[in-house]
Amino acid sequence: MTLRTRFAPSPTGFLHIGGARTALFCHLHARRYGGKTILRVEDTDRERSKQEAVDAILAGMHWMGLDPDEGPFYQSDNVEKHLDIAEQLLVGERAYRCYCTKEELDEMREKQRAEGLKPRYDGRCRHRTAAPAEETPHVIRFLRPKGGEVVWQDKIQGEIRVRNDELDDLILVRSDGSPTYNLAVVVDDHQMGINLVIRGEDHISNTPRQIQLFEALAWEVPEYAHMPLLHGADGGKLSKRHGAVSVLSYRDEGFLPSALNNYLVRLGWSHGDQEIFSREEMEQLFDVCEVGRSAAIFNHEKLTWINGNHIRDAEPKELLEELNYHLVKLGIEGVDQKKLLSVIPEFQERSKTMVEMATKVSFLFVDTLSGYDPAAAKKHLKISSKKPLAQLARRLESLPEWSLEGIEKVFVSVMDQFDIKMGKLAQPVRVSLTGTGTSPGIYETLQMLGREKTLSRLQAGVAYLEEKEQELS
Ligand code: GLU
Repeated sequence: MTLRTRFAPSPTGFLHIGGARTALFCHLHARRYGGKTILRVEDTDRERSKQEAVDAILAGMHWMGLDPDEGPFYQSDNVEKHLDIAEQLLVGERAYRCYCTKEELDEMREKQRAEGLKPRYDGRCRHRTAAPAEETPHVIRFLRPKGGEVVWQDKIQGEIRVRNDELDDLILVRSDGSPTYNLAVVVDDHQMGINLVIRGEDHISNTPRQIQLFEALAWEVPEYAHMPLLHGADGGKLSKRHGAVSVLSYRDEGFLPSALNNYLVRLGWSHGDQEIFSREEMEQLFDVCEVGRSAAIFNHEKLTWINGNHIRDAEPKELLEELNYHLVKLGIEGVDQKKLLSVIPEFQERSKTMVEMATKVSFLFVDTLSGYDPAAAKKHLKISSKKPLAQLARRLESLPEWSLEGIEKVFVSVMDQFDIKMGKLAQPVRVSLTGTGTSPGIYETLQMLGREKTLSRLQAGVAYLEEKEQELS
């Protein structure tokens, strides 16, 4: 039997990090066991469901590399089927119409509370003999089984037992004729052939109700795996309060999808003491049955550390898409892709995020620098550097071949001529060429930048120092 699992977000906001983790676990478990993933958008709550949210969820999943094998399907497209099934349950006397008014229900609950009982529907419409006219407002309730219990072997939580008598007669269809969540989910899961439901622990209380429904309909009950929830560093449930929680805002912070997936897989799952996983490894090793039961804590520093590892280990071409994304955000477009690809290795060790990498490579792709980092200029661009810089520019201009060896020779000759150490020459050169005090090795920096830009930026550095000199005199 092919494993079929689904991710079923309600489109009320963007794809947050907890949802992405559920989608990832579904995906990995399905890949490991040759199964299929299905995306079902649970949009039956018309008021809260938004098209922008659907788009944001799809975009988030796509960026994470978690496109489903099937779908998206929309729960709202299946309402007729949900209602047919409610009708079928009515005919089979596994459901009944309940005409209780709000006042009646309030009074019932009030009384139960006063008697120290748990408030719940007492089933008074189950055997109502004189049914009011059809058009009287009513809901359809499930006639829950009496006695016995619901038991399931949760793949993460272990065995869970709930006595049927603890549950009340669940509403299947509201008085406005719309199906409720539990009815819709059971009908859809059955129709889509879902045999493993992976979802958050917050749904555990729905599961016995859903199993009762599957059984009443004589449908095969899927297996369940309820994942522990994600918590913020302060121990509270992860929320917007804990900073950026949409997966796409992690993109904007410069995280790679491979790193975010790696980080998320480790929240609740481990494989020995391995921390860094490629996508292939995750797909080969992950098993939802091995997920632990304790709540996972989200930790931004660890994510950054994993991201640095993924940047370092990536093939340069795997970084192109994200690097371009961040360059465009810096206003740098139309970059020569061959050139970009060739310089990436110089920056992999030096960048913990793709924002950092884009910022660091940007000096290579702008025509002129927009200015110098004030601290770096103050520290390294001294009047005493003016002559060595000017001399370096002159010698580089006539260098026959723009090679690392040639550049090095010119540097050595200028250092000899002015009797200065490497730092005294390299740092002013670096600030002139990159606008900052850090870059790859100085010869590599020149080589990557090319002769033309190197010369014009050195000349601009000299001009800057001349101006400074005049100001001081
Ligand atoms: N739509 C539900 C949610 O977003 C998930 C339902 C399910 O997985 O059964 O929380």
